[in-house]
Amino acid sequence: MELGLAKTRLKYMTEANCIFCKIVSGDIASDKIAETANTLALRDIAPLSKVHLLVIPKKHYKNVVELSEASPAVLGELMSQATSLAQEHTNGSFRLQFNTGSEAGQTIFHAHAHVLSDSSKDGS
Ligand code: 5GP
Ligand code: ZN
Repeated sequence: MELGLAKTRLKYMTEANCIFCKIVSGDIASDKIAETANTLALRDIAPLSKVHLLVIPKKHYKNVVELSEASPAVLGELMSQATSLAQEHTNGSFRLQFNTGSEAGQTIFHAHAHVLSDSSKDGS
């Protein structure tokens, strides 16, 4: 394969310095709670609320727009996992959030949904 094309493919599949790609590959440890064929769910390392989960595609997309354009099926899988986990971990009141762009608070440029709630399943 021509080198330029190989590099482009590598960049698309996995960004060398992407924390979430390293979590998917197992190079960085994480508190994983569930996975599907194309997505992974984990606890946020610095929770902003009582329940704070992240759901990420296993493949690298820089944000939800890129994910939606490239693979609506994987976005659907991610949303389905996020809503299932939200039902499991909260009393049904939660927020789903995709920070998109640094001005909107995105700090990790690998698409991810935040599942946030101050309620928990047991009502505590
Ligand atoms: P963003 O600000 O990009 O929308 O969200 C990135 C989230 O990833 C933040 O809430 C941050 O706490 C979380 N985070 C950053 N590094 C790690 C990590 O190594 N492991 C886990 N589980 N979460 C992380
Ligand atoms: Zn990545």
